[in-house]
Amino acid sequence: MEMNKEGIGMTSQRARDRLIQRLQDRGIKDMRVILAMRTVPRHLFIDEALASRAYEDDALPIDAGQTISQPYIVARMTELLLQGPIQRVLEVGTGSGYQAAILAQFVPEVYTMERIHVLYNRARILLKDLDYQNIRCRHSDGFRGWEGKAPFDAIIVTAAPKELPEALLQQLRVGGQLLLPWDRGGGQQYLHRVWRTENGYESGDLEPVVFVPMLHGAVR
Ligand code: SAH
Repeated sequence: MEMNKEGIGMTSQRARDRLIQRLQDRGIKDMRVILAMRTVPRHLFIDEALASRAYEDDALPIDAGQTISQPYIVARMTELLLQGPIQRVLEVGTGSGYQAAILAQFVPEVYTMERIHVLYNRARILLKDLDYQNIRCRHSDGFRGWEGKAPFDAIIVTAAPKELPEALLQQLRVGGQLLLPWDRGGGQQYLHRVWRTENGYESGDLEPVVFVPMLHGAVR
């Protein structure tokens, strides 16, 4: 398949326009996010057999039993992240690479980590083919963060841990935020945000969400 960043003509512009309308109806207001969601060709981040569903507002399966997140939640988390100035962001849970590509539209330095090797490798190659020069991928356990590049202005986790990852809290700069789906047990997950302050951390729940679990250890 021929690839270009716009991807126009590959999957109908009308389907994309409908998705954008839906995101706006659901409350996404930041025009930078809307523009990014229009620009990044989501159909290239999923299996070709599912490409016709790429611009529906649904999570879809990718390899290794994982999912590409629903467009609404990608847009929502991106909008929340952009509430502070960000030069450098860390994403834990590269998956398809789609969220990283969205972030790369406006964040100068995007670092993304994935624990499953085939997903890491596929995303790395796709993002390179699409010529994203401001994304760096790493095959590693996100519970450890990316110490060599810390501190981060923002950290986004796209898999749900049962506890707040300590290393990620430590790798936030003062004034920065950690945004993650937090698994409280009993099938309950909440989007949760932690701000690092001069004196410590301040945090709160935002809305219920559904993500795959965040698991320990990197695997081949
Ligand atoms: N942001 C992705 C969503 C992928 S689903 C996208 O846009 O497509 C979440 C991903 O987190 C899965 O690929 C899963 O393997 C990965 N993951 C789970 N636990 C992890 C960990 N400890 N470190 C790194 N990645 C992890």
